[in-house]
Amino acid sequence: MKSVVDELEALLGPNRTIHSRDALLAWECDGFTIHREPPLAVVFPESTTEVQAVLRILSKNGVPFVPRGAGTCLSGGPTPVGPSVVVELARMNRVLDVDAVDRSALVQPGVVNLDLTTHVKHLSLHYAPDPSSQSVCTIGGNVAENSGGPHCFKYGMTVDHLIGATVVLPDGQLAQLGTESGPRPPQGLDLLGVFCGSEGTFGICTEIRVRLSTDQPAVRTLLASFADMTSACRAVSDIVGRGLVPAALEILDQATIRAVEASVYKAGYPEDAAAVLLVEFDGEEETLDEEAGQTRQVFAHHDALRIEEATDPRERLRLWKGRKGAFGAMGRLSTDLYVLDGVVPRTKLVEALEGIYAIGKKHFVVLTNVFHAGDGNLHPNISYDGRNTEETARVVQAGHEILELCVKLGGSVSGEHGIGTEKINHMPLMYRPQDLDVMARVRRAFDKEGLCNPGKVLPNRSACAESQKWPAMIARVLGEDAAR
Ligand SMILES: Cc1cc2nc3c(=O)[nH]c(=O)nc-3n(C[C@H](O)[C@H](O)[C@H](O)COP(=O)(O)OP(=O)(O)OC[C@H]3O[C@@H](n4cnc5c(N)ncnc54)[C@H](O)[C@@H]3O)c2cc1C
Repeated sequence: MKSVVDELEALLGPNRTIHSRDALLAWECDGFTIHREPPLAVVFPESTTEVQAVLRILSKNGVPFVPRGAGTCLSGGPTPVGPSVVVELARMNRVLDVDAVDRSALVQPGVVNLDLTTHVKHLSLHYAPDPSSQSVCTIGGNVAENSGGPHCFKYGMTVDHLIGATVVLPDGQLAQLGTESGPRPPQGLDLLGVFCGSEGTFGICTEIRVRLSTDQPAVRTLLASFADMTSACRAVSDIVGRGLVPAALEILDQATIRAVEASVYKAGYPEDAAAVLLVEFDGEEETLDEEAGQTRQVFAHHDALRIEEATDPRERLRLWKGRKGAFGAMGRLSTDLYVLDGVVPRTKLVEALEGIYAIGKKHFVVLTNVFHAGDGNLHPNISYDGRNTEETARVVQAGHEILELCVKLGGSVSGEHGIGTEKINHMPLMYRPQDLDVMARVRRAFDKEGLCNPGKVLPNRSACAESQKWPAMIARVLGEDAAR
């Protein structure tokens, strides 16, 4: 009997169907390296029709699958849970159409976020959602995670920039979500909004129409350093409290500053400061003068040690270089990095950070903080050596307590990195069983057989029964001999 891998190879050819154990190691995890599990096979479709054909083969054989973009997810979203086939969308990377008048673009899911902005730069347009991973992450992954980024404080998350999407459902059928006239028509259900943020558990989007934004005439970037974190956080609340709406409000703590300054992302941040606050405004030149002036007043009121203001694009890039490279710079501190993603109300930032540092101390972990302060979206980073199981256990426990703290302070367990496998057991901290059940029912409406990215987002009460089916499934995918 033909195995599933044989069928996939017959469809895509051997170069686009990987199943050798060594090669599969490249797909055993995403940026959440604590959870590793290689897939049974990886396939590389290049069109909507091919994605449909792949999912039909998998659905006919009852084989689970995992959609994957660039694998930069930080919550285990594209990592298999149990035997499954990864559907890698990186080769679907074409910008299909740009409408400069309507300011929209139709893209395949594997288009890299920053490449889209580069593609439309000559039209003075850009794609606004800008995750710090934007030079590698894909628009398909951004849709699945409803990704944010430094400039989402003013411009909103991915969902606010979506117009429509073609989705291949787990049984291979096509669904068109949203309409050409906009994502939220006056009639019908907003299924595009439901799909965005579903973390690859509802199907695979193969074409996405996004809104493009016009470039602002001018940008002003300021960086202030402070002797303590409390002053930096209070400055954030005051800036927002004055009614100012910066495009971005980002904080880096001292440990992050020092790691950045020791790395290739060196940006000239003051290493003696306890925190730096990066604030950016965009708009008409005249309003920027007023906004920058008011921000300087706030900085002074909170005893800023030093204030810098970028006067040309090169200076602006320098000020951003350290922030954008902060996660990469963590490689200076240890072999592994656990990037957390919790949210607290902006007014609770000081309390949250005090609690986070205390948790770090209690568990003897190396903790740094860099975060989207305007949104109260914290990214505590724990550097550790993943080969040391005892240290890893402490890291996981510290992460758990940090997320508990965020919820206790009225926040949430994720601002933008999703739930994946990392935070699946934290969902009950935020939702009652009956609310989780409603989410499971919506999921079943898209994926009746439970084949699409199982083991993610929603705690699964029947996981043990599911695992009993695994040996037979492995034999179906690889063939009896290879499975032995
Ligand atoms: C250094 C660094 C900085 C980051 N900064 C930010 C940030 O500022 N803001 C932010 O929000 N995130 C950030 N992230 C997290 C990550 O980059 C985003 O979640 C991103 O959207 C993931 O895109 P990806 O292409 O890598 O998707 P993947 O990691 O491959 O997949 C992510 C999820 O999307 C699903 N998926 C992928 N493609 C599709 C598709 N076509 N259809 C359906 N489902 C699909 C997968 O199954 C998975 O569940 C950062 C990550 C890193 C490593």
